[in-house]
Amino acid sequence: MDYKASDRIQDLQYFGEFGGVNPSISDSSTYTFLSAKTMFDTFEGNTEGCYLYTRHSSPSNLYLGEALAALEGTESANVYASGMGAITSVIFQLCDAQDHIVSSRTIYGGTYAFMKNFLKKFTIETSFVDMTNLDAVEQAITPQTKMIYCEAISNPLLEVANIKALSTLAKKHGIPLVVDNTFSPLSIAPAQLGADIVIHSLTKFINGSSDCVAGVVCGTTEFCLSLKDVNHGAGMLLGSTLDGLRAASILKNLRTLHIRMKKHSENALFLAEKFEDDGLKVVYPGLSSHPGFEVMQQQMHPKYGFGGIMTLDVGSLEKANLLMEMMQQKNLGYLAVSLGFYKTLFSAPGTSTSSEIPLEEQEAMGLSDGLIRFSIGLDDDINRTYEIMKSCMNELGILNKKQLAE
Ligand SMILES: *Cc1c(COP(=O)(O)O)cnc(C)c1O
Repeated sequence: MDYKASDRIQDLQYFGEFGGVNPSISDSSTYTFLSAKTMFDTFEGNTEGCYLYTRHSSPSNLYLGEALAALEGTESANVYASGMGAITSVIFQLCDAQDHIVSSRTIYGGTYAFMKNFLKKFTIETSFVDMTNLDAVEQAITPQTKMIYCEAISNPLLEVANIKALSTLAKKHGIPLVVDNTFSPLSIAPAQLGADIVIHSLTKFINGSSDCVAGVVCGTTEFCLSLKDVNHGAGMLLGSTLDGLRAASILKNLRTLHIRMKKHSENALFLAEKFEDDGLKVVYPGLSSHPGFEVMQQQMHPKYGFGGIMTLDVGSLEKANLLMEMMQQKNLGYLAVSLGFYKTLFSAPGTSTSSEIPLEEQEAMGLSDGLIRFSIGLDDDINRTYEIMKSCMNELGILNKKQLAE
């Protein structure tokens, strides 16, 4: 596959105002104009390269946007104050009252709650379907449908979307395919596979240091400009603007993304294989037992692996909680939501990040209450981590007698 995202990022070149090796940070909310006429034209959206007001755009945000467009291989990208800021802007830009969305049923809890509850206020309906069942996706499409929405690798069940097939379907019906690629930067390139709009929560792997929230929308220049339109742009009018200082710091962290993703993936694959051998219920898209393994192999960039997220089902919420507390005591990571940190993060999605999803729906989609989601860290000695995790599981009786005897 001809995919050179890391080359495109490597090839970006910025100079600071004084010849610095990092771009200068623009620390202003508003910008001067030499002529009043140019100010008017800028409001009308006619003047490229003029800064107006920071909610509209700012140099630091444009630099980060340019780098993220390079990451996904799209024409353009707009950054936002959070992943949800990016997602909600896209939805409001594409949907009017009475419109309809076809979405995967396994998506980030906040996105699910927004579509299921909040959009009711605007009479926008969502059908939640199994994205791996293309017939179900197609049957859900109505004349009112304005987008197909999914995650490349879904939260928290790690379903793998067949982006090529979904994009063919979306094109057949003349609607855009919107893909949240938060779980798989670099390893999956949805826009190269036919997605029209790619979203990330930058909060996770891309920034990678759990010190901020931010988001991005990658797409055509036309769509990105429409989001910024002073009269009709959802990004501009909803106002979830990323601070320029933060944009500059995310841009610096982006430079090590390729190294981090390889290590996250290597460590997660190691643990997933070990725990599967130990007889535990592991879900990881890099295991041949995973239903999305083949699709994943067809559409991934092998260099970056299958990603850093894995789930373990330890049988009950009580055991899950005990295990997570013990792992934190032993300094294997943190009992915390979110992902992409250098330390392993773990949480029980049913009672945390997916608690917006009603219990009976959680059951229907296979989200059991003993499920723990792990964002595997950058541990240098992952075998040592495995041994300590295993000793915790032995102590809590999570591995059965046969497994213990081995
Ligand atoms: C965290 C997350 C979001 C939301 O991003 P925020 O930066 O927290 O607003 C959206 N989608 C996925 C897959 C996520 O993991």
